[in-house]
Amino acid sequence: MTIIKEDTAVLQNYINGAWVDAKSTETLEVPNPATGETLVKVPISSKEDVDLAVKAAKEAFKTWKNTPVPKRARILYKYHYLLTENHEKLAKLIVEENGKAYKEAYGEVQRGIECVEFAAGAPTLMMGETLSNIAEEIDSQMFRYPHGVVAGITPFNFPMMVALWMFPLAIACGNTFVLKPSERTPILSNELVELFAQAGAPKGVLNVVHGAHDVVNGLLDHEDVKAISFVGSQPVAKYVYERAAGKGKRVQALSGAKNHHIVMPDADLDKAIANIISSTFGSAGQRCMACSAVVVVGDGEKFVQRLKQKADELIIGNGMNDEVLLTPVIRDSHRQKVLGYIDKGIDEGATLLRDGRKEMGEMDRGTFLGPTIFDHVKPDMTIAKDEIFAPVLSLLRAENLDEGLEYIRQSRYGNGATIYTKDARAVRQFREEADAGMLGINIGVPATMAFFPFSGWKDSFYGDLHVNGKDGVNFYTRKKMITSRFDY
Ligand code: NAD
Repeated sequence: MTIIKEDTAVLQNYINGAWVDAKSTETLEVPNPATGETLVKVPISSKEDVDLAVKAAKEAFKTWKNTPVPKRARILYKYHYLLTENHEKLAKLIVEENGKAYKEAYGEVQRGIECVEFAAGAPTLMMGETLSNIAEEIDSQMFRYPHGVVAGITPFNFPMMVALWMFPLAIACGNTFVLKPSERTPILSNELVELFAQAGAPKGVLNVVHGAHDVVNGLLDHEDVKAISFVGSQPVAKYVYERAAGKGKRVQALSGAKNHHIVMPDADLDKAIANIISSTFGSAGQRCMACSAVVVVGDGEKFVQRLKQKADELIIGNGMNDEVLLTPVIRDSHRQKVLGYIDKGIDEGATLLRDGRKEMGEMDRGTFLGPTIFDHVKPDMTIAKDEIFAPVLSLLRAENLDEGLEYIRQSRYGNGATIYTKDARAVRQFREEADAGMLGINIGVPATMAFFPFSGWKDSFYGDLHVNGKDGVNFYTRKKMITSRFDY
């Protein structure tokens, strides 16, 4: 498998069915976040590289769009088989480049495979609609067509799942694709592409261009790129949405989050705490559906003390160790930003219930940060408002559910929210009033599966059609209406 050039260990781009060096000579090191060891270098490609990839994708589109839909789907069945065969290998690669625990990575690979399962239903998913007799002797039909070249830009935290939210469905719908993976976790994407080629994808149908801002801007501005799928942080998502939409492209831009978990007085504390610990500290809090704020309704002292005790017991370390739950954050630069938030929380008057800074040196060169919990956080504090994206949890106190729901309403983000309770009326009120797109009832990470939309609200999403499910099919296709008269 040609992934790393043996002599230089610089990743290559994949353009028109071949591994090629980037035109640009600029590179960035990709370290293992748990050890600091450099895994490979990633090229910071230029707009010239983007042009080559888009040109190849545009050329491939001419035949791919006319490839029968069941034939396209068959490549996805083969791809599904190959991904499943390589499940463990893919999971290990994710642990190496992202740092998350092997169990999490294994689950991520599974989530990605499910996206391929969904996309393999293209013959059904792409069906149009018909209605005869819309008027006398007149019928109407709707057909779905692909756009052409579509680009996907992904974040570091789910190198497999997010890429597979995008290209399998886009390609199954008849588009060709240019993927720009996160430059912080670029290695897995080359494996994904190699396996896709082995599954029988013709050259030019899927291309990868590694890099950073220049590649993103090259894709956003390119007149032959018709649609953009983006997942990443809020400022970049908004920028991508505005710039690409301004160029007349279809855009879906999934963004940052601040997910609240409401713990009602009647909650099963053991289960709620287990869910919250795993949601907050799993993947070092670097999940867009991670719990980052808990609203404790009522007295809550017992809950707070038991939560702290569980956080004290967490095992921190390399994700390849089965017992580890808390793994490193992605880079030291990110950790420094998080340390700034911890200082800010203290300055603004929150109570630092558990200080994870003491565990920073846990392993030599890994970018670790221990579980950090602030209590008595007020909704207007910076740590309550901003996405910190780290193992840092804010506890807010509320007298009742109405107050908890108000905290969620005040948040600029609306990706997910959860309630822990056995009370059906509280559940119903939460379902009706929580101002977020993906809700959990006694669920720690209420992320949706491939056949439903991944449905963030407010500043957690820019666009209208979400990824996955019917939204995904609608995003990657455009509709053509035929109105026919037969009494002619
Ligand atoms: P990021 O915004 O730093 O990077 C995402 C992508 O944008 C990368 O490919 C990167 O190269 C590119 N990029 C970064 N800065 C850019 C700039 N100034 N101009 C052009 N391109 C730029 O995000 P990240 O740190 O890799 O990922 C974490 C973020 O992604 C978190 O905010 C998380 O909540 C979010 N996320 C959201 C979802 C969701 O479904 N809403 C899912 C996963 C991650």
